[in-house]
Amino acid sequence: MSDAEYLTVEEALTAVLSGVSVLAAEQVPLLDALGCVLAEDVVAKDSLPPFANSSMDGYALVASDLARATTENPATLRVVGDVAAGTVLEVTIKSGTAVRIMTGAPLPPGADAVVPVEDTNEAWRDRERPLPEQIQVTRSVKPGDYIRHPGEDIEAGQTILREGHILRPQEVGVLASLGVSQISVIRRPKVAIIATGDELLEVDQPLQPGKIRNSNGYTQAAQIIALGAEPVQLGIAGDTETAVRQKLQAGLDANVDLFISSAGVSVGAYDVVKAVLEAEGNVGFWRVRMRPGKPLAYGTYHGVPYLGLPGNPVSAMVSFERFARAAIRKMAGHTQLERPTIPVTVQNEIHSDGRESYIRASVAPADEGVGYTAVLTGDQGSHILTSLVKANALLIVSEGVKKVPAGSQLNAWMIDWPETVFL
Ligand code: AMP
Ligand code: MG
Repeated sequence: MSDAEYLTVEEALTAVLSGVSVLAAEQVPLLDALGCVLAEDVVAKDSLPPFANSSMDGYALVASDLARATTENPATLRVVGDVAAGTVLEVTIKSGTAVRIMTGAPLPPGADAVVPVEDTNEAWRDRERPLPEQIQVTRSVKPGDYIRHPGEDIEAGQTILREGHILRPQEVGVLASLGVSQISVIRRPKVAIIATGDELLEVDQPLQPGKIRNSNGYTQAAQIIALGAEPVQLGIAGDTETAVRQKLQAGLDANVDLFISSAGVSVGAYDVVKAVLEAEGNVGFWRVRMRPGKPLAYGTYHGVPYLGLPGNPVSAMVSFERFARAAIRKMAGHTQLERPTIPVTVQNEIHSDGRESYIRASVAPADEGVGYTAVLTGDQGSHILTSLVKANALLIVSEGVKKVPAGSQLNAWMIDWPETVFL
């Protein structure tokens, strides 16, 4: 029998998270920061908009000139200039005059409103069209109408984003509009992936008797990329101490922040990984009361955190989702570490063995338009990766529960939803 410790999922997660810390900040080009966590407050250098400008193609004018203007009784104004976006017109607008203006063009001095072209007798949008000498306006406007005011969105000197904020496309856009081309963020974790097992072949090798291809290495690299970290694929280590040690050394040479291995941690099979880690690090072998994914190894190798996942492809992926993902997100500076869970009504009866179970399911909005329903995606064997292909959620059956009747409510862990769904 093994000397493995028995832990709940919660206990294992707490232990894994306590072994990793937030990485250092680094300055990166703005686009490279997408998905990263801001490591500094950002103070606006400029106001946005930086100057008063028109929100419509139309005419800049003095609002009081249109006080009585209607369709039946239009106001006539003399056109004294033309201002396109990107240019500046120094002409001062006086009562009785107007300037043709394009969306985004700066408001000329003296004007206090814009009237859209649609409300004039010159309802075109063509820049090539000659400037009319005069226009007729068929409505009144209030001072400030169709004008975007300087600082309306952002005031210069304002703290616009705080340390800890996640950079999504909209944050990237705000930073770009403020002239920020380099930004300080928590650096992306570098994660080593090692597949252990004498039965493993590289994906481009033809199958041989008794051998299978190393799918875990790819699943894990994909999971790491999908969460914005950097995978370092160290390939396959056969079931010898020397092979495992060589791979771990390659990871140290690459300065990785975390080791993830698959297989070789279940009872009777883990001696190789165990021997290496015990000699040159420290490691605990756990049996987590979780299905799929019972065996889990956790420790350090030469000071670098180490997480040993089970070998079965579904167990490996679910354990990664449950433990590795949260650890990597913590290292990357995130505080929301887990994907959202939502309540769903399950359509099938579910049987469990009393361990906390993660059941592959497809979740969709209920026909009634309120809430969500879940249907199991097939064989729940820990080697059946295709039932994970059909799934967008893992239904969580609590510890101690052995039967869930159809029609029950369960929490669905939404494995395709980002943590930012409920900001
Ligand atoms: P083990 O934990 O070594 O007992 O492996 C459990 C199961 O996972 C066995 O059927 C292995 O062949 C399989 N397995 C281990 N490593 C991988 C891998 N990298 N890719 C796909 N299957 C694997
Ligand atoms: Mg094995």
